[in-house]
Amino acid sequence: MSLGKATVHARKQKSLAKCHAMHHAHHAQSHLVGEGRTRGSSPMQTPVLVLNASYEPINICGARRALVLVLKGVARTEEEQGAVLHAAQVRMPMPSVIRLLEYRRIPHQTRALSRKNILLRDRNTCQYCGIVLTSGELTLDHVLPRSRGGQSTWENLVACCHSCNRRKGNQLLHELKEMKLMREPHPFTLHTSRHIMRMIGSADANWRKYLYY
Ligand SMILES: [Zn+2]
Repeated sequence: MSLGKATVHARKQKSLAKCHAMHHAHHAQSHLVGEGRTRGSSPMQTPVLVLNASYEPINICGARRALVLVLKGVARTEEEQGAVLHAAQVRMPMPSVIRLLEYRRIPHQTRALSRKNILLRDRNTCQYCGIVLTSGELTLDHVLPRSRGGQSTWENLVACCHSCNRRKGNQLLHELKEMKLMREPHPFTLHTSRHIMRMIGSADANWRKYLYY
């Protein structure tokens, strides 16, 4: 396919301008124009669907990371989200769906246990009261408190708002009448990714065609 070559060629020509754009993408404060897919949140944080070279959906990442992958020539934009990044001499349409140019074998194993991945698994939703917040406004809660021997594991860590976190304190869940987990926390597997992709994707025409095949 000639698309790869075209991308590489374009990359050489624009490499300087792209360095600027990448700098801006990394530092987030570039001038963005247009409506993001999610109202009220920055287009830079909008989730982007990542497809393998084979068009199989394999991941979700933030728009900023997606933009960096496109600027590096690792991926190309398949669908745009409507907003445009203005940085230096470059006008970059913000991606909604990107596709890796080289096929990657995706292991079915669990992802790394991290704050970011737990928030992604829980869709930035407090697992006690159901409020959806930005990553910065959420904390992680040990379901079985650390003071009572609770471990930092996929099954014992959930996204939690600060007010639920304070309310729960060091108590056990069954000691608290009004607090209940929305769902059992599970490790983040490819199955989880697919489930999340479908949940987000069902509301987004750009994503839907890649998710139901
Ligand atoms: Zn809460």
